[in-house]
Amino acid sequence: MLGVPRGTIGAWKFNDRQRYPDAYPPTPWNSCPACHSFEVNEQPYSYLLGLYLGDGHIVHKHKQHTLSISCADAWPGLIDAAEAAMRDVMPGVTTSRVQRTGCTDVKSYSEHWICMFPQHGPGRKHERPIVLEEWQEFVLDAYPEEFIRGLIHSDGCRVMNWTTRTVAGTSKRYDYPRYHFTNESEDIRNLFKDTLDALGIEWRYNKRNTISVARRESVAALDEFVGPKY
Ligand SMILES: [Zn+2]
Repeated sequence: MLGVPRGTIGAWKFNDRQRYPDAYPPTPWNSCPACHSFEVNEQPYSYLLGLYLGDGHIVHKHKQHTLSISCADAWPGLIDAAEAAMRDVMPGVTTSRVQRTGCTDVKSYSEHWICMFPQHGPGRKHERPIVLEEWQEFVLDAYPEEFIRGLIHSDGCRVMNWTTRTVAGTSKRYDYPRYHFTNESEDIRNLFKDTLDALGIEWRYNKRNTISVARRESVAALDEFVGPKY
């Protein structure tokens, strides 16, 4: 509109970038922790890995890779958390939300999401092996709580069970919380179990595909960093 040549604006931007490098964070199309070997933002990555293994997938279309995580509308706080984690892991990335029946898909576009989640592939997660790369295992060792939080926020829940006990002749109702995690992939269930073991949290199989944490001390330990969905 002002008739300033494109090259002049390019020079201004170049000079500005030289003078104020901190004002120009890396952008998604030219930076990726995996491809450009800068440090992975480990804490949000560990959470996002849990979300991805639970309810996430990567779609490849029009030369663009879209990371998509399905979040139930009942928990708006978790939708915000998923979007924040994507932005924290891939600086400057584009995110969007797509409303579906009862849930919202949080989406993010970057050709590098497949580098961050090398477990992507055709078919469903439980029909192919899910094996972490060494760098992902380091992240998991550093932030096991975040990983568990991501898995429970996607494929898990904290439920209230109750039982009755007779005390001094009267029947009293007791409520107690427990956690469930349900996933069809044995590899993903093993990651969940192994990480709980590392944290000293007791678990057991409830059903073929469901792991439950019910012991009082173990529930209390999960409450420290997971808690009810929000
Ligand atoms: Zn990459």
